Amino acid sequence: MQQFVVLKKENFDAFISSLAQTQKVVAPVSRGYNNFSFQEVISGKEISLKYIPTILPPKKYFLPPRETLTAYNKRENALNAILEYEKMVIFGVHTCDLAGIQCLNMVFVDKPKDINYIIRKNKIAIIGLECNDYCDEYASCCVVENHLPNGGYDLFFTDLGDAFIVHINTMLGEELVSKAAVFKPADAKTLKSLESLRQMKRSIFKDEVNVKHENLKILFDSAFESKVWEDLNKRCVACGNCTNVCPTCYCFDIIDEPNLDLNTGVRYRNWDSCQNEPFAKVAGNENFRKERSQRQRHRYMRKFKYPVDKYSRYFCTGCGRCSRTCMAKIKLKETINDLAKETK
Ligand code: SF4
Ligand code: SF4
Repeated sequence: MQQFVVLKKENFDAFISSLAQTQKVVAPVSRGYNNFSFQEVISGKEISLKYIPTILPPKKYFLPPRETLTAYNKRENALNAILEYEKMVIFGVHTCDLAGIQCLNMVFVDKPKDINYIIRKNKIAIIGLECNDYCDEYASCCVVENHLPNGGYDLFFTDLGDAFIVHINTMLGEELVSKAAVFKPADAKTLKSLESLRQMKRSIFKDEVNVKHENLKILFDSAFESKVWEDLNKRCVACGNCTNVCPTCYCFDIIDEPNLDLNTGVRYRNWDSCQNEPFAKVAGNENFRKERSQRQRHRYMRKFKYPVDKYSRYFCTGCGRCSRTCMAKIKLKETINDLAKETK
């Protein structure tokens, strides 16, 4: 297997068009006003190769916002599992979002396995795309070590000007390359250019907060009683935007919905948010995270403490979406710096 191949920019459109002839291809597309979203494309011309993180991360293809799980028919005494999936290629996934998919994979293959997620994931080919520079001021991918590729893709594209150098990471990636017949083996000069780019990136990307990668967990271990949560309590409007756009938030609610005939119906799941007031409500009308401060704390702990305890990995990918979308201007980097200030 050739580990690195090259795709000339003039052949990019031919590559995407040939992929789109055999399966659905989704990629970042401009939606105006510096907004981007993953959408179905049939040609390379539709794709934004330079984009800031899309409004929703690619998790929408792995864990759809609404997914029917079962359908029942009482008269026929039938309960049928429903599995919704389609074969597709996701092109242009940045390293932060690759990390997000890796996090979701860890959760959904853990016991109890989520069969729907696993089958869907196995039908999706992932093509990563390197960020040569920061997307914008909200990104914090370096402190969580997601600014450089770290697996989780079939192919990985790096833009070197008039061509892409492409890392082939899996058999599926190799298949996509050989079927397209527009790639050439990478020569020593191109490999050197990739190395220089990575060197340059090491000088651009620096820890974006006043805490080192390895100390983030220590910071959050002692942050439970922090006053910072009280400040967020006053500002957060509990809209749930931050969790909906987060590539590693995966909470869902399950709802049974009978049809009007009261004989048939479906069970579906849809995304839920720990920022919504009823999220932690239990029988007797008790709510163990009634205050917005508690819910904000929970959101941060679910990124920097609990998953490290369980999976030895930060579940913040540094994509910056939560800060970019928050109408109360709550910024993740600021929150971390405020927590760090308290410990000084
Ligand atoms: S997006 Fe901002 S205001 Fe909305 S729930 Fe999240 S932190 Fe609160
Ligand atoms: S917490 Fe914010 S910056 Fe971190 S992964 Fe989620 S949306 Fe991205």
